[in-house]
Amino acid sequence: MSFQELELIEPILRALKTEGYTIPTPIQQQSIPVILKKKDLLGCAQTGTGKTAAFAIPMLQLLAEDLVNGKKTKSIKALILTPTRELAIQIDESFAAYGRHIPLKHKVIFGGVSQHSQVMALQQGVDILIATPGRLLDLMNQGYVHLQSIQIFVLDEADRMLDMGFVNDVKKVIAKLPAQRQTLFFSATMPNEIKDLSNSILTNPTRVEVTPVSSTANTIDQYIFFAEKPDKGKLLIHLLKDKAITSALVFTRTKHGADKVVKMLRMASIKAEAIHGNKSQNARQAALQNFKNKTIRVLVATDIAARGIDVDDLSHVFNYELPEVSETYVHRIGRTGRAGNSGISFSFCDTEEKPLLRDIQKLIGKQIPVRVDHPYPIANASVELKAAHAPHVVSPKNNNHHSRKPNNNNWRRKPMAR
Ligand code: AMP
Repeated sequence: MSFQELELIEPILRALKTEGYTIPTPIQQQSIPVILKKKDLLGCAQTGTGKTAAFAIPMLQLLAEDLVNGKKTKSIKALILTPTRELAIQIDESFAAYGRHIPLKHKVIFGGVSQHSQVMALQQGVDILIATPGRLLDLMNQGYVHLQSIQIFVLDEADRMLDMGFVNDVKKVIAKLPAQRQTLFFSATMPNEIKDLSNSILTNPTRVEVTPVSSTANTIDQYIFFAEKPDKGKLLIHLLKDKAITSALVFTRTKHGADKVVKMLRMASIKAEAIHGNKSQNARQAALQNFKNKTIRVLVATDIAARGIDVDDLSHVFNYELPEVSETYVHRIGRTGRAGNSGISFSFCDTEEKPLLRDIQKLIGKQIPVRVDHPYPIANASVELKAAHAPHVVSPKNNNHHSRKPNNNNWRRKPMAR
């Protein structure tokens, strides 16, 4: 299927061509026709599936049609609520990219920075508002944002909103929306509280679902390194000597852990920065920018800070510590292997973490190969998927883990600068 077959208007098709998109992703193929029919949508999809374009493209088209029909007002017509600043910025960039030939104004607002420029932009009139819940409520309470003209409302990453404790704020925003509207609801997982929320705000929705979380791990070359906690820093420094690792995202479980890893790397003259909730908005954005433009080679992140980070050309993901929740492993390694490349993930596992590794292997349904070619191994370490299986050990001779082969997701664009 092509984008033309989705009956998109010419200015959007032209913008997609500039972006290098040729084939709509599965979530786009399913969602765009539903949204263009002005129906409510319940989308089960995570970041990395092309879900932002799945809602942004048809929203731009619907709002552009209103412009042609002479409906031009200063009021906000579409609202996208998303849990983190990074995601909000990326969604705003997507609207800028796909809407570059359409005269609609979009603006992103989030907390942690001065509200002055956000208020100025709102006063000049905004068609599409992208916001995190806290700052939006603040500005609503101060009378700078009015939602009575919203035609389309998007709730993005609803499960993450729940995780981050934003659900009450989200409900307060929803209470101010007009009853007559189109609602698009996205969540990677559907815990009961999220199901209840979706039932309460959607009217007769069409449900679309793409690749369950456990299968996304298949396009990524994954390896386990058994090493005890005190050796993990040395192991990371050892592995980073390999220049084939051009850009590495390193996950730690805690903010303190992230800062410690950065300190260790810097002492070994490896340029690294941390990105987590204790850093100021400016520091986080600067770190991400430095990582994207390759000024630094290593970014150390906690899960919440890293969710949704969209860096094309990320060569390696390191799990310095294994996550407590197995699905988080899949989200973490899903940061690599994007935009036409396969990815590589290296996970460190100490003796205490073996039960976590067992859960991860159960979720992804396979045993992750163990690398023993390093100076800090644990004697006789293995975690087997089933007792009958011998661990799959990779020796340095027979693995070619540094070669990055294209994966078989044929919608993914060829690497090109955005
Ligand atoms: P998302 O799931 O919205 O975070 O998108 C993941 C990545 O896929 C982003 O870098 C998008 O620019 C890219 N992308 C989205 N749709 C397409 C498409 N149809 N073809 C190629 N790349 C795409």
